[in-house]
Amino acid sequence: MKKRDIILILILILISSYGIFFSFSNRSEGDAYIYVSGQLYGTYDLSEDQSIHIVSPSGIINDIEISDNGIYMRNATCPGKQCMQCGRISRNNESICCAPAGLIIIVRSSEEPEYDAVTR
Ligand SMILES: [Zn+2]
Repeated sequence: MKKRDIILILILILISSYGIFFSFSNRSEGDAYIYVSGQLYGTYDLSEDQSIHIVSPSGIINDIEISDNGIYMRNATCPGKQCMQCGRISRNNESICCAPAGLIIIVRSSEEPEYDAVTR
């Protein structure tokens, strides 16, 4: 292999790793996965502001809000309203749980390494 070929390969590697770096930084905001009764209800991009209205099978209404790259329970008709006290979540593996509604929100982000949810 000639020296010129090696330099060319190195440049190609640099360009491709640059592309990977950019695709990662674009995805750093992550997605919210919402589960109702153990089933995936939907995935939502945290970089898109929106409100999600979910009526659980038990009749509990959850008003979820996505804003400023975070997600939080804006309003809920469950007893105790503990899910509303969880505040805003935006980091990988953070979650909001509304037990009476059987509703779980989990944030998945490529920004940080995933660690075992059981240990939290
Ligand atoms: Zn709740």
